[in-house]
Amino acid sequence: SWTNSRNAELKERAAKVIPGGMYGHESTALLPADFPQFFRRADGTRLWDADDNEYIDYMCAYGPNLLGYRHAAVDAAARAQMELGDTLTGPSEIMVTLAEVLVGMLGHAEWAMFCKNGTDATSMATVVARAHTGKRKILVGRGVYHGAAPWCSPGPAGILSDDRAHIAYYRDQDPQSLADAMKEHAGDVAAVFATPFRHETFRDQAQPDATFAREARRLCDAEGAMLVLDEVRTSFRLSRDHAWAALGVAPDLSSCGKVIGNGQPISALVGGEHLRKAAGSVFVTGSFWFSAVPMAAAIATLKIVRESDYLERITRTGTLLREGLARQAADHGFALRQTGPVQMPQILFEDDPEMRLGYFWTAAAVRRGIYLHPYHNMFINAALSEADVAATLEATDGAFAALKAQDLKHLPLERPAVRERLERAAALSA
Ligand code: PMP
Repeated sequence: SWTNSRNAELKERAAKVIPGGMYGHESTALLPADFPQFFRRADGTRLWDADDNEYIDYMCAYGPNLLGYRHAAVDAAARAQMELGDTLTGPSEIMVTLAEVLVGMLGHAEWAMFCKNGTDATSMATVVARAHTGKRKILVGRGVYHGAAPWCSPGPAGILSDDRAHIAYYRDQDPQSLADAMKEHAGDVAAVFATPFRHETFRDQAQPDATFAREARRLCDAEGAMLVLDEVRTSFRLSRDHAWAALGVAPDLSSCGKVIGNGQPISALVGGEHLRKAAGSVFVTGSFWFSAVPMAAAIATLKIVRESDYLERITRTGTLLREGLARQAADHGFALRQTGPVQMPQILFEDDPEMRLGYFWTAAAVRRGIYLHPYHNMFINAALSEADVAATLEATDGAFAALKAQDLKHLPLERPAVRERLERAAALSA
């Protein structure tokens, strides 16, 4: 049966030696109290927390798990490279192979540069775009997450308005708002950042929008600005190419992250021929950017992306989950808003202005061995089987029944800070 005493003990120890007990969005401070903060191990689609409770995991490490945790072929490639060496005096020869692989897969890419985190890649995109254009402004969708560096961090603490002196904002995925921002900064726009679709926390997700994508491309071309597609969250979950390939819109630069090494730390910035010189002119590096083990894992991961039916399978299991949950919610008298691509589901409740239903339901699912998130989009990995989806639905049925048994008018608001996050999300939607 489900317990969390070890987790509580670890949180107490952590509070003494880790600021806030934990930081960033992997902190459980805003999640229901029963969500585990610390984990012990993982395998396939399953995850075990510090108390050894087992979960079918729908967060996939906030994205990086694409093929299943501890994927045999990927881990064998990583282990084989580990035998040769990892962080060396310079890159391993496989860096060239990996760059060839990405350039071969991504239609708009003629070169690739590797780094560790998504923030490295998005920050590098700003530098390359400015070096190429000689212009200053970076246009970013308001409230859109591009990482935790001062130019883009969502948190105000320790950040100066000067850090964002040349960041300007438009209404995310809104062509008119982008056109207005372009006009306001005409002559000085280095880059426009976009994500393939709206995937912010506490809000409904969207599907990729061809009208916005085409208009962003047109406006960038008219202004001589670089279009940066931030695919850190979406890489290879929507497509084996970049996510706007299906819309016929090519970005100038794109940031790839999270999944490239199926969990090994590696991210990338890729771009077109016209940006090769600028990309070669900027000074960017890091002690661990050239480590060979993640590159070996990436070559193995991308081979599976090219050669297997992983994308069709995550689409199918994602669809089964969405349909099953919709039926189940209706049977219990609830309505869900399930939005975004099925491989990256966001699940919110209708008529749940303070997310009390969503918090109770996801906490009940966690206690039943299903790790669902109340306000962040989730991720489907290729190790998730149809039987896992069936097991998930059995548990969520229990979670809906538990919710229905509550006095719904008086569900607790476990995290009052959620109110402020919801207000911010509503302001973005207005
Ligand atoms: N861009 C997007 C769209 C992201 O989702 C993320 C991570 N959630 C980042 C950038 C930053 O990536 P990282 O956390 O690896 O620095």
